[in-house]
Amino acid sequence: MALPSLIDPRKLALQGNLLEGMVDVEDLPRLASAVSAVCGPLQASVQFELDESRATIAHGNAQVTVETICQRCLDPLQIDLRAEFAVQVIWSEEQINRVAANYEPWLVLDKMASLNELLEDEILLALPLVNYHDVGDCTGDTFVPEGEVAQEQAVSDSPFSILQQLKR
Ligand SMILES: [Zn+2]
Repeated sequence: MALPSLIDPRKLALQGNLLEGMVDVEDLPRLASAVSAVCGPLQASVQFELDESRATIAHGNAQVTVETICQRCLDPLQIDLRAEFAVQVIWSEEQINRVAANYEPWLVLDKMASLNELLEDEILLALPLVNYHDVGDCTGDTFVPEGEVAQEQAVSDSPFSILQQLKR
């Protein structure tokens, strides 16, 4: 089920609502521009509630698979991003001092807030700056066992590869 893009966090917190669902790839433009491809909808689960001081809070998780580039071999690489978060809604920047230490501030200037943007922010924070294949899956490894080198030479002497060289 698709998550609503605009939500009323105060009302959801008063009702203690749990929202679970997906955000479509086209609603994640900043994530899309940060990676080669977003491989499917973002899945999220967000619990809204009032804490003991009646502050509006939301906590949950978000996950999405993206394709990026391995910085060792420059080949495509799929990674699963997962973010866990706990935010406290504030309605103006002056309220930032009221945010408890275990929450991040979520500045909501109108009655309605963008859930997509919150989830996208959280998943962008989970995106590593550089990504690598696991050792063994990566063609850019500096260390190649001798057996594999011998195999590669055998392949390059085959008639098929000579044909390929001629084509170039
Ligand atoms: Zn690699």
